[in-house]
Amino acid sequence: MKTVGLIGGMSWESTATYYRLINQGIRQRCGGLHSAKILLYSVDFAEIEELQSSGRWPQAGVLLAEVAARLEAGGADLLMICTNTMHKVAEQVAAAVSIPLIHIAEATGGHIVADGIQAVGLLGTRFTMEEDFYLSVLENRYGLSVTVPAKEDRRLVDEVIFNELCRGVIAEHSKLEYLRIVETLSAQGCGAIILGCTEIALLLKPDDTDLHLYDTTEIHAQQAVAMMLED
Ligand code: GLU
Repeated sequence: MKTVGLIGGMSWESTATYYRLINQGIRQRCGGLHSAKILLYSVDFAEIEELQSSGRWPQAGVLLAEVAARLEAGGADLLMICTNTMHKVAEQVAAAVSIPLIHIAEATGGHIVADGIQAVGLLGTRFTMEEDFYLSVLENRYGLSVTVPAKEDRRLVDEVIFNELCRGVIAEHSKLEYLRIVETLSAQGCGAIILGCTEIALLLKPDDTDLHLYDTTEIHAQQAVAMMLED
């Protein structure tokens, strides 16, 4: 089994899910007392969020690249950035190491295409929904047609992520707002929804809507398990 290095803490609420899902995946595949070989470096999310909101992405990239190098030096064979948003600096991080980076948007795009879905809605931070780094992977590399919520709803989705989910707050009124937005995306022709933020599955569950929800945390973790067990 290969060792996976997790760049986590963005937020730790979802990193805890990654830790559980990767271990569950290894137990499912290997049985018995088997568990995942994981190295975790959990950052201080306040420092990262400050760099994000002030637009200092290159500095954020340097910080995560240093973490990646530490994980490789510590023995990681594979690397994951446990957030969709910070894939904005994925190239900078990948360039700092010689081990493969498991890209969350690529794992997600591949998974959706394999299901034969073409039109999807995307929920995530304002960076993920509005900038090119994520949408371009889904649209250009995987040929998906991606719809994001309207401006006011994007603001709501983003605020719930940073003000509630990343702080461990799960609020019923926010869940209802998210479901309203999911319904709107469905009416606009989306056949499924990408939960393109690693905390959203803490709020929205598969049974909450008839639309299929692609949970990027789960897909990313499954991809890690598969690669950890490859020869
Ligand atoms: N975990 C979130 C994501 O998947 C948001 C936190 C962040 O800005 O990194 O995008």
